Amino acid sequence: MDYQKLNKLSEYVKNTTSLGIRKSGDLLELSRLALETRNLEKNLKAIYMDLGELCYKDNKNKKTSDESYKDYFNSIEASLKKIDHLNKKILKIKDMKLCRYCNKKILKSSLFCPACGEKL
Ligand SMILES: [Zn+2]
Repeated sequence: MDYQKLNKLSEYVKNTTSLGIRKSGDLLELSRLALETRNLEKNLKAIYMDLGELCYKDNKNKKTSDESYKDYFNSIEASLKKIDHLNKKILKIKDMKLCRYCNKKILKSSLFCPACGEKL
């Protein structure tokens, strides 16, 4: 990756992050995690679409085939788990956490949630 591209990427990550991230290693890790998350989400959408088509055809043919959905459900569950794991990693690097009441992203050091006002 050339320097200019890297610089642009750093700017992008900085601008899309509510906090200034100091270490460049973190920036690279964040963009890698974000890319991985996007790919997983794209893949997940494709699974949902395939499942939708199968469901439509089964319904049209008055066929019930819960068994044939099983693989799709398993893939979806696995993708969701991976995405959740990546999101947690991203939050950790950004020094943030999810509010346990409203699920909004907040600073790890927050004593009160700025979104819902609950004491943490
Ligand atoms: Zn909250």
